[in-house]
Amino acid sequence: MNSFPKLFIPGPTHVPESVMQSMLSPQIGHRTPEFSDLMSEIISGVQKLLYTNNHVYLTSHAATGLWEMGIQNSVKKGVLHTVNGSFSSKWATVSKECGHEVGILDYEWGKGVTAEDVDELLSSGKYDVFAMVHNETSTGVLSPLEPISKLLKAKYPDIIWLVDSVSSMAGVKIEVDRLGIDFLMASTQKAWGLPAGFSLCSVSNRLIELADTIDRKGYFFDIGVYEKYYKKMQTPSTPSIPHMFGLKYVLKEIFKEGLEQRWKRHIDNAKYTRNWALDHGQSLFPEKGFESETITCIQNDMNWDIEKINKFLLERSFRMDRGYGKLRGKAFRIAHMGNVKELDLKEYLNVFDEVLNG
Ligand code: PLP
Repeated sequence: MNSFPKLFIPGPTHVPESVMQSMLSPQIGHRTPEFSDLMSEIISGVQKLLYTNNHVYLTSHAATGLWEMGIQNSVKKGVLHTVNGSFSSKWATVSKECGHEVGILDYEWGKGVTAEDVDELLSSGKYDVFAMVHNETSTGVLSPLEPISKLLKAKYPDIIWLVDSVSSMAGVKIEVDRLGIDFLMASTQKAWGLPAGFSLCSVSNRLIELADTIDRKGYFFDIGVYEKYYKKMQTPSTPSIPHMFGLKYVLKEIFKEGLEQRWKRHIDNAKYTRNWALDHGQSLFPEKGFESETITCIQNDMNWDIEKINKFLLERSFRMDRGYGKLRGKAFRIAHMGNVKELDLKEYLNVFDEVLNG
């Protein structure tokens, strides 16, 4: 077995040698013009990818920190969280731990978030912030943003909308400005196809203004502090410069591929994987219409011996997912995002077939 099997887990995802090499640039000072040039190039690329003019912050930590940034800079009255899997549940816990009034719109795992359900709870008037996970990585459920955007614009224009797109950003088309998303966040180890330890978010002007009116939000995640340095095209503290060189490289690759082509590739790979699963007598774990475009979560109706498959796939130098948390053994996921191209996916599924056929 290769000691570094190729990753088909939903993060960290496969990082090819070319991306690793791009991160090996000599270091530069983070208070220099060359740093500001680098940051400015990255920001323009991310804004293009997210179809936004919003400010984009680059943060040198896992995305979990950005859950806190979103919440601490926005909630005054209360936050409504949708919970339809493990990550959305954790985000709600973070908000509670931060001492906020938290409402939960609770779903069975596998279900998607609907505008009707959100409307029912927001109509209580108890919340000034709405937080949701776009792509629930634990269950492979993608909740369409369009109907929620329509609802918020029509009935709750003052509600601040926070979206976790950790496993969808750079893999699924998200038009931030058209949808009106105030805070969109992700880390780099999923569809961005970079190593873990770096995150980014887009922040609307009204959220920047609102953050200014909120006391006691700490320092590290204070949007006001980020803004102060953003004006100089700098980060508040010393960032992970290798990640920034990596992002610069990955953005170039993304635009070489073309945005529309990139979204299509993810949709095509998702369809291919879903069909592969159905052809094998399995079913899909997510509710119909909410299947993720970056991760396919397969319900193990055929009772495959997942541990045995995992062992054989490892011998062939592939790292599979065996199901998240309580789903282990009952459902498992195949990630097809970021650097996983059609040929990589087909290679993986062919080897998977070989393993199944003994
Ligand atoms: N949100 C979602 C949807 C995730 O899938 C994950 C990690 O898998 C996180 C948040 C946390 O990201 P990080 O590990 O970068 O903090």
